Amino acid sequence: MKHTAFIGLGSNLAQPAAQVLQAMQSIGQLSNTRVVARSSLYRSAPVGYLEQPDFVNAVVKIETSLTPIALLQALLALEQENGRTREFQNAPRTLDLDVLLYDDLQHHEHGLTVPHPQMHKRAFVLQPLLEISPACVIPGVGAAALASERCKDQRLEKLPAAVAGYGSTE
Ligand code: ADP
Ligand code: MG
Repeated sequence: MKHTAFIGLGSNLAQPAAQVLQAMQSIGQLSNTRVVARSSLYRSAPVGYLEQPDFVNAVVKIETSLTPIALLQALLALEQENGRTREFQNAPRTLDLDVLLYDDLQHHEHGLTVPHPQMHKRAFVLQPLLEISPACVIPGVGAAALASERCKDQRLEKLPAAVAGYGSTE
């Protein structure tokens, strides 16, 4: 487990919280990978297309031996497996898994850009990230906390622990 990475999760399926929780489990079952921290679940308003349900977002921290490309491919496969509704053929993918950070890597090729190019503009990424990594620095950008300050106008709601499936003790 040589490397540390952060994965952003998002879904706006009918049961998006369940989707995100399932995806967290699946990430922990990838080869040579374990989840070492997971944020609360957050509800965010859709950006761009407003005529769709709110999203549920979260971030997990992993340790992995997978290369950045192998990690991305594994996540894209999970999107395929878990992110499609089963009710009809070719239903839209509604699970999004993004490689946010991979060690201190700055990488831009083979269909992978790390750090994720939009992450520093998105409260629904930055707030869950800061919850599990308060001192996080985004290579090429700076402190995640400063980036988050600039996204304060974006509406984001932390879901209760019970909804997030973390038990009722929080
Ligand atoms: P978005 O996540 O921007 O809403 P998509 O999930 O549809 O959009 O984009 C997926 C594509 O973005 C993938 O095919 C992948 O190759 C590419 N991509 C580039 N960098 C990353 C990254 N850091 N994490 C996830 N996907 C990435
Ligand atoms: Mg994506």
